[in-house]
Amino acid sequence: MSEALLKILIIEDSVDDYDLLVMQIRRAGYKLNSKRIESREELINSLEDLWDLVISDNSLPQFNAQEALKITRSKNFFLPFIIVSGTIGEEAAVSAMRAGANDYIFKGNLNRLLPAIEREVRESDNKIKKIKIEKKLEQSEKMYRFLSGSIQDVFIALDADFNVTFWNEHAQNEFAIGNEVIKTPIFKVLPAFENKKLKSLLGQVLHERKSQHFEFQHGTHKYFEGSIYPTEEGITIIAKNVTEQRQVKENLIKINNELETLMYRISHDLKGPVASIKGLINIGMKDFNENKEVQLLLKMFDNSTLMLNNTLNELLNITRIKQGQIKPDPFDLSLLLNDVINSLKFSDGFDDVEIKLEECEDIEILSDKRLFRSVIQNLLENAIKYRSKDKSRKFIRIYASKEKNISTLCIEDNGQGIPLKLQKNIFEMFYRANESSQGSGLGLYIVKSALDKLNGIVNLNSKEGCGSTFIIKIPDLNDLWG
Ligand code: ADP
Repeated sequence: MSEALLKILIIEDSVDDYDLLVMQIRRAGYKLNSKRIESREELINSLEDLWDLVISDNSLPQFNAQEALKITRSKNFFLPFIIVSGTIGEEAAVSAMRAGANDYIFKGNLNRLLPAIEREVRESDNKIKKIKIEKKLEQSEKMYRFLSGSIQDVFIALDADFNVTFWNEHAQNEFAIGNEVIKTPIFKVLPAFENKKLKSLLGQVLHERKSQHFEFQHGTHKYFEGSIYPTEEGITIIAKNVTEQRQVKENLIKINNELETLMYRISHDLKGPVASIKGLINIGMKDFNENKEVQLLLKMFDNSTLMLNNTLNELLNITRIKQGQIKPDPFDLSLLLNDVINSLKFSDGFDDVEIKLEECEDIEILSDKRLFRSVIQNLLENAIKYRSKDKSRKFIRIYASKEKNISTLCIEDNGQGIPLKLQKNIFEMFYRANESSQGSGLGLYIVKSALDKLNGIVNLNSKEGCGSTFIIKIPDLNDLWG
């Protein structure tokens, strides 16, 4: 303290008394910056400067300490003000202290002055610091309230015992509960948090200090989704009302299911008439076997009917995939591949292509065999169908591997390949990337739908004119699946 520079404003008409005071303070080792004044005007002007302390004589010819104190307080509420008086008067001292003076000291006992100066300067410093901190706190609280009030999400702050410490306006509106919930455990405020899973999630965020995504239902018809974050005091919850999005999603699922059912019904009901047409074509072929022109027409008719029948079968297959239950069973991959290859023996172009099975032995997959078979079948059919007519040696290479419980199967061909700009669409329904395709454009859609159902994925590497590789990854499914 004694090393510090003290700035003291001294109200004193006696130059001798002023000098004595200054000497005493300096003698105690202080560096002093002081100024002597003796009128009201001087005081008002001097208070524009920064002072650590004001010392005032009790009575001056044109002025007194009480008035000086009043003026000082009106300008600076915290500036320490010590009255130094030539007379001992208890009453004067009491009334000065009442008026807000920090101390009252008798001129004959100036020894008391130094400790008083030290104490008051220190306290005033502390007061100023405290006020600054309080102001900062108030500002950041204001900002906190402003921010949490302006976000259109529910914002709830909890302490480490999960009591609500803050609850924004949006939360009040959503849950129709006001600020009376402050200090109440969140489990009592929102019954959804009584749920074991949510309760343990709160604990997890608090102890592991890692945010978590969560969702909950409030009452019978409100749904919320959001995140829980760790904070210094406990945790905060920020959540969005997703009731409307959920309803839209539920409606979409419903409409989608209805469309799938409609697709199934139409394909199913059309299969009967298509079979009749096919029967009639066969009769026509026999009855008009002499007439070449009619035979040609009936052959064309037959081809179209075959295509229509294939499309109907594929549509039925899609609805079965989408709506059917999954039955995981372990199966040997190479056996399944050989089985599918055998079933394709009589398809157009099969003999033209060399099919090589490499590294597929001893891989067992736990999944729905029927669905996975349709994936392989469609990919192999395409690899044969879209073989390159220009290449003398056409091949399909099949290789697989398994790591942990994920199996990877690659079906590579050196066929026509798929132009880069069309590759992003080929898994869409009814999409054909080839003008010469006679297909329904449903094969790869079936592949994708089946893999979606099996939690698998399919990727494509293809270059026009060089060939394509379809890479499938599927996980083993456990018995509880479905
Ligand atoms: P499509 O009935 O036309 O065969 P798919 O859904 O099975 O329908 O395939 C979509 C398109 O992707 C096909 O029209 C074809 O252009 C392309 N395609 C699929 N597989 C291959 C492949 N192995 N090689 C080249 N093109 C392919």
